[in-house]
Amino acid sequence: MSYRNMSLSGKIFLAMVAGLSIGLFIQYGLGSPAWVELWLTGGIFKIIGAIFINLLKMLVVPLVFVSLVTGTSALADPATLGRIGIKTIGLYLLTTGIAVSLALLSAVIFKPGIGAEPAAAALKEITTNKTFVEVLIDIVPTNPISAMANGDMLPIIVFAVMLGIAITHSGKAGASIAGFFSDLNEVIMMLVTLVMKMAPLGVFALILMLGASLDFAEFAKVAKYIVLVLTVLLVHGLIVYPSILILFAGLNPLTFLKKMRPAMMFAFSTASSNATIPVTMETVEKRIGVNNRVASFTIPMGATINMDGTAIMQGIATGFIAQFYGIDLSLSQYLMIVVMIIMASIGTAGVPSVGLVILAGVLANVGLPTEGIALILGVDRLLDMTRTAVNITGDAAVTTIVAKSESELDMTVYHDPNAGLKFERGEQTP
Ligand code: ASP
Repeated sequence: MSYRNMSLSGKIFLAMVAGLSIGLFIQYGLGSPAWVELWLTGGIFKIIGAIFINLLKMLVVPLVFVSLVTGTSALADPATLGRIGIKTIGLYLLTTGIAVSLALLSAVIFKPGIGAEPAAAALKEITTNKTFVEVLIDIVPTNPISAMANGDMLPIIVFAVMLGIAITHSGKAGASIAGFFSDLNEVIMMLVTLVMKMAPLGVFALILMLGASLDFAEFAKVAKYIVLVLTVLLVHGLIVYPSILILFAGLNPLTFLKKMRPAMMFAFSTASSNATIPVTMETVEKRIGVNNRVASFTIPMGATINMDGTAIMQGIATGFIAQFYGIDLSLSQYLMIVVMIIMASIGTAGVPSVGLVILAGVLANVGLPTEGIALILGVDRLLDMTRTAVNITGDAAVTTIVAKSESELDMTVYHDPNAGLKFERGEQTP
């Protein structure tokens, strides 16, 4: 099959393999000479990778806002919106709860902190987050434009939903504004399609830089921790999500996972659920068949409040740090960690490394040494990438379940292996 005819996931996968091989060759074959650093990893590939991430981020705020106004104004009924909101938040909390519990349990059983060596990474300045009360208050923006300028997802969601509701109650004027937003939504979707054409090149550059910087010597010092985090992430992605898809929605999970592949690769390469929002949203709508009325609300919300992969890393890291310092945690401390990790992730944007920032707050609150983060800092990038892929898969799984329960899932699209493929290839918007 020629490269041109390959599916987007095929192209991205190829780009990943090529990027990783060349990156590893640069580091271990060439010994990372100065000219490579100057021209390649610190030059051309850095530029391509950063531009690719910028392009994705550029789409996030306009897409979320416009798509959500369109979605809410089409819903018409605030009661439906409330029901969708409650189901979504309930499922997000449930999946995150399962994630932390799995993580803590595995940390207690496999004890990754025993025998670990201190890694060389220096602890960067890590600031703690807003408190839960502050997050709740700030959900309502005092200035929607500044919320948009800062990319604060929850206030943007609140403003867009309220605007959408107002539109449905504004008669003729509302109808013409709704028409405008719906057209604008189509145009922005086209923009997403165009940006996705860049994906193989962008992913190639990002993964190449990863390969050139992977420090296997550091990995060896905390090998047990890394293997454990990756294993639990895998279990969550390949067993927990499929189980809830079967249990709550009676859906074939293999179809879901297959269709999610490109979005997972985007998340993996960018390590940011936020930057991946455009791709996650397009995937659940065009490939999986979720109506925009549900997806426009649940996906941006999930990118902010639902971070199962992050919760897994945090649970295992907490156990790891406690074991490393020889501190015994009581059952009530474990329960507190579960609640804190769930609460802390709410309102924290899905951007690279944010999981470590949240972790610092959790450690401080349960009386564990924050310096412990230095032990895992140096190896976090690869785990960050992997847990981001799990994070967005969780958002999509919950979205699919909620859509099914609201009869907002088009089963013909779900079962059609080719649905939305044209969009993926960037040939046209459906
Ligand atoms: N990078 C993750 C995300 O964007 C958050 C984290 O775990 O650091 O979802």
